[in-house]
Amino acid sequence: MSDNFRIDVDTAVRLIAEHMPSYPAESIPLDCSHGTILRQQVVAERDQPPFNRVTMDGIALRSAALAAGTRSFHVIGTQGAGVAALPVKDNGNCVEIMTGAMLPGDADTVVPVERIVTEGDHVTLEPGYQPTPGQFIHRRGSDLTAGHPLLEPGTLIGVPEIAALAIAGSATVKVAKWPKIAVVSTGDELIDVGKPVELFQIRSSNDRVIAAALEKRGCKTATRAHLPDDPDALRDAISDMHDRDDILVLSGGVSMGKYDYIPQIMDELGMRLVFHKILQRPGLPMWFGVSAQDKPVFALPGNPVSSLVCLERYVLPAIRTALGATLPERQTVQLADAIHFEPDLTCFKPVQLDTNADGELHAILKETNTSGDFVSLAGTDGFVELSRGQDNFAAGEPVPFYQW
Ligand code: AMP
Ligand code: MG
Repeated sequence: MSDNFRIDVDTAVRLIAEHMPSYPAESIPLDCSHGTILRQQVVAERDQPPFNRVTMDGIALRSAALAAGTRSFHVIGTQGAGVAALPVKDNGNCVEIMTGAMLPGDADTVVPVERIVTEGDHVTLEPGYQPTPGQFIHRRGSDLTAGHPLLEPGTLIGVPEIAALAIAGSATVKVAKWPKIAVVSTGDELIDVGKPVELFQIRSSNDRVIAAALEKRGCKTATRAHLPDDPDALRDAISDMHDRDDILVLSGGVSMGKYDYIPQIMDELGMRLVFHKILQRPGLPMWFGVSAQDKPVFALPGNPVSSLVCLERYVLPAIRTALGATLPERQTVQLADAIHFEPDLTCFKPVQLDTNADGELHAILKETNTSGDFVSLAGTDGFVELSRGQDNFAAGEPVPFYQW
């Protein structure tokens, strides 16, 4: 493939999607399911609420008694939540009842405790108080009926979804099983935290950032490794990782430098090149291929901003789709300031979101010094995408936004 063969952003997204496998599902306990992607439909186990639920502490009685002018009642028992309903039996009776209790089948109205006067086992309604028949009852099935769909496959299980699963009685949940992902930084200059660093060396951040971004999306099992710019070491280690893992995410070594060995090593390992280079800034030299076993290999440019943007724009959405996730609608935000960008490339710019004077969400550019300037990214919310083929972007123009 010619070195000048560069594809646009949408083509890169499409080609990656075409080469991603779909990953299997697994059943896990409800308690472990937060942050996972649902792979089953969840329906209501029962009507919700499952019975006529009392919504105030007070007494349950028959409205027919009220209609007949009865204002004092004999308390025939006390009923809390979680027990079978006590019958009222007679128009002159009531049951002392608590919030959450099941309304007795032969009662139809609840009078709050604040509206009654109790004397021994008799209660009298507050003078002048006229209860509305049927009041303070959350009717059976008024939220939803048994069998009603609660959650669809592809849903990300967040906090409210846990409630839906619990209400549905799901002790176990069928969710996407994360593939094994190897995160690999490459470069002789890179030194991990906790180790002494020479003037001419660089702290490695990409591997940690990629692992953190994966973890944020629910992947708790990614492994990290660092490899030198040495063809033999790269070949052996990448081959081993390919045997062990399902997805490789590398950073560094994909440009035109003498020590940028990754494309060559991938070729030697029999990886099929899908594309190398995207018409974008930052991140132009991104490489993507698949192995003979159809395992995807993403080789991101080493510059920290490039690497993170490529991860968020391509790698994470592709993996999430392969896991069966329904991706949220692409968010759009307005540019806070006008931008001029001349090169014939899609431009990604880190931004901070804020609300303008009209209360609308807008994106304030956070210029990075270079695509290696990771420090400026602290405090940003994500990046905007400025499409190729347009040089001028006006303040207020809506543009796609990707959250870190
Ligand atoms: P490369 O793509 O290997 O040419 O790297 C481009 C630039 O990104 C170089 O200045 C590298 O030192 C830097 N870089 C590469 N990998 C990392 C990393 N894991 N963490 C921080 N900087 C990196
Ligand atoms: Mg390098």
